[in-house]
Amino acid sequence: PEGLIVKALSGYYYVKPQGSHPGETVQCRGRGVFKNKGITPLVGDHVVYEPSENGEGTVTEIHPRVTELVRPPVANARLAVLLFSLREPDMNLQLLDKFLVHIENEGLDTLICLTKRDLLHDNDEEAGEEITRKVKALYTAIGYEVIVTSSLSGEGTAEVKQRLAGEISVFSGQSGVGKSSLLNAMLPGLDLETNVISMRLGRGKHTTRHSELIELENGGFVADTPGFSQLDFLELGVDTLSNCFREFVPLSESCKFRGCSHLHEPGCKVLDALENGDIASSRYEHYKTFYQEMKDKKRRY
Ligand code: GDP
Ligand code: ZN
Repeated sequence: PEGLIVKALSGYYYVKPQGSHPGETVQCRGRGVFKNKGITPLVGDHVVYEPSENGEGTVTEIHPRVTELVRPPVANARLAVLLFSLREPDMNLQLLDKFLVHIENEGLDTLICLTKRDLLHDNDEEAGEEITRKVKALYTAIGYEVIVTSSLSGEGTAEVKQRLAGEISVFSGQSGVGKSSLLNAMLPGLDLETNVISMRLGRGKHTTRHSELIELENGGFVADTPGFSQLDFLELGVDTLSNCFREFVPLSESCKFRGCSHLHEPGCKVLDALENGDIASSRYEHYKTFYQEMKDKKRRY
């Protein structure tokens, strides 16, 4: 039989058999061959397992992975849900772009959630609405999906849940933006388990190698540990940076010089687009800032 590894703990893999009810798992060991090949089964792996007589089993085969993340250790995640709060903490577009660079670098799709929409009612609602509209328009134009949410009023939460159907997703975003709250809002009636989630997601003291997928009833799974919180650029080079700015990619192919940095070169299509207003100045400014940050890092190491 085949299944999905939904939890890994102390050398055991908990496999959810294909077509089984939510919460049903078979406790499995990994077959020794994996270790010899240097492969470790991961949460998110689609596997073949061999049931044994005591109700446990052995993972015998791992299907090829579509993606493989290190933090959290999850296979086959295809969607990153990037949360940014409209208030508390206030919207920070540079930080948002930094998260996006890291997600793009891993090749995941992104859903941007602008959270805590209800807080805009407190005061200066109009200004808040204006910011929300602008941020949404900016990132939608680049090709990102954006959903405005409030875990308090429930706005947008059904829409987010719908988007997670049938996918393995990783939540992302700085601490306090409402990751645990959004998950809780999507998982009514699972109080006990969601409390566990809140703890793991909220406090970030996740020192063990334990990881787990939280199952939604629509065939979606969410990693219980947030991803992409390591925001330094150690693993990224300046040559890959512009590929992580989605709207630069089709342009940079036509730049006059190969390996154009898009900073000062003549015949640079990215600079042209910036001048014409086809690229948002905030995005370009952040590109320059990150570029410099990477250069400085290189000098230091
Ligand atoms: P996390 O660190 O990203 O998991 O953030 P939490 O879900 O723990 O939320 C941080 C704080 O923001 C908590 O005090 C939540 O009650 C609050 N919060 C989260 N979502 C919302 C929301 O939609 N509206 C309001 N008003 N507060 C929220
Ligand atoms: Zn260029």
